[in-house]
Amino acid sequence: MNYYSLNRKAPDTNFENAVIKGLAPDRGLYFPKHIEPLPKSFFEDIDNKSYKEIAYEAITQFVSPEIPEDVLKGIVEDTLSFDFPVVKLDDHISTLELFHGPTMAFKDVGARFMARCLGYFNKNNTNEVTVLVATSGDTGGAVAHGFLGVKGVNVVILYPSGKVSDIQEKQLTTLGQNITALEVDGVFDDCQDMVKKAFLDEELTNTMQLTSANSINVARWLPQLFYFMFAYKQLHKHHKDIVFSIPSGNFGNICAGMVAQQLGLPIKHFIASNNANNVVTEYLKTELYKPKPSVATISNAMDVGNPSNFIRIREIYKDNFEALKKNLSSFSYDDAQTKAALVEIYQRYDYIADPHGAVGYLGCKDYLKDHPNAHCVFLETAHPTKFLDVVEDVIETKVALPEQIQAVIGKEKVATQIASYEDLKAFLLKR
Ligand SMILES: *Cc1c(COP(=O)(O)O)cnc(C)c1O
Repeated sequence: MNYYSLNRKAPDTNFENAVIKGLAPDRGLYFPKHIEPLPKSFFEDIDNKSYKEIAYEAITQFVSPEIPEDVLKGIVEDTLSFDFPVVKLDDHISTLELFHGPTMAFKDVGARFMARCLGYFNKNNTNEVTVLVATSGDTGGAVAHGFLGVKGVNVVILYPSGKVSDIQEKQLTTLGQNITALEVDGVFDDCQDMVKKAFLDEELTNTMQLTSANSINVARWLPQLFYFMFAYKQLHKHHKDIVFSIPSGNFGNICAGMVAQQLGLPIKHFIASNNANNVVTEYLKTELYKPKPSVATISNAMDVGNPSNFIRIREIYKDNFEALKKNLSSFSYDDAQTKAALVEIYQRYDYIADPHGAVGYLGCKDYLKDHPNAHCVFLETAHPTKFLDVVEDVIETKVALPEQIQAVIGKEKVATQIASYEDLKAFLLKR
């Protein structure tokens, strides 16, 4: 598959290059040249297909011929080694649990897929690739885990000091090997800005091959379309009008869902559920897209003031505001509403959500008010124990720690403090 830059000032490139470069030379995000809908039979037969078969068939066009068939099968096999259950709360609301991977965040799938693609492209290459990634919470852990031990790849993770949960911090600072954590004196947007600046810094890019593992990278972004297909497989027999409420930060996950829809998956509507960082909620109200500094919330993986993938969503809808609005609603909730939702989900359904899932749940409820016949699936994007302090406090109950979390809790944090872009640059150059 060829990819073009959304800034339209760089040449098209293939999947391999798009993965290795991350961002196009004109700073644009890459987007597939063409999305070919899957045959009708794919959806008619979905009950007879395994998750791995579904994933393989859905992603092939985006990665071939650069990744050959047998290699892709192996990558998919490896990436999807855990479950994606839909849990029904009632006739109108379900949750799709995306937290059964090694770091218990939905980003595990994208990170594992990308790491394996990069490992394949790099297998005969003697030059090392440095993956530079900014995290507002879960990306760091998922990327660190996904890339751990991948030959020829060094991973440098920037995270905002004091703005990620203890468990998230442990997950990205305790692995060692080819993984380094940089603790930034700032907020997530500062981390993201530093990463973007590094990609444009010729003094750096002339000395090392830098790439990104944020959802701007097509190999991290696109595999997320699997989730929507997995949920559809579990629900389509019982429910017709399936809508998804996606707790959104950089809007990669929801945008991948829209690609699944372009492939022909019968999704009725999307809901972008936001915390107080509500640029997109405001955009859908006013048609004015106004990025602003992020504010800290209890759903910190969504504390994004200028969602990087929103431009891809606009591209899918050819920047037609009315067409977008028909297919996408957005709501925004503050921390008090999110906490009340955690309690409500626990008391009403005996289900423990995490703060991100709780925002998604609220989006479902608001949408269902006007669409009582729909079935709304909110994505549970992280396991509740990753936000233990908040969750236990709010529902006044102890939550058992899964083994993936227990494994990191006692380990010692190793991170290098930085405060400016100059610090980052000096760090990278001296390696
Ligand atoms: C990253 C993340 C999100 C936001 O996903 P985007 O693809 O950036 O919109 C939501 N919830 C959790 C737990 C996350 O880690």
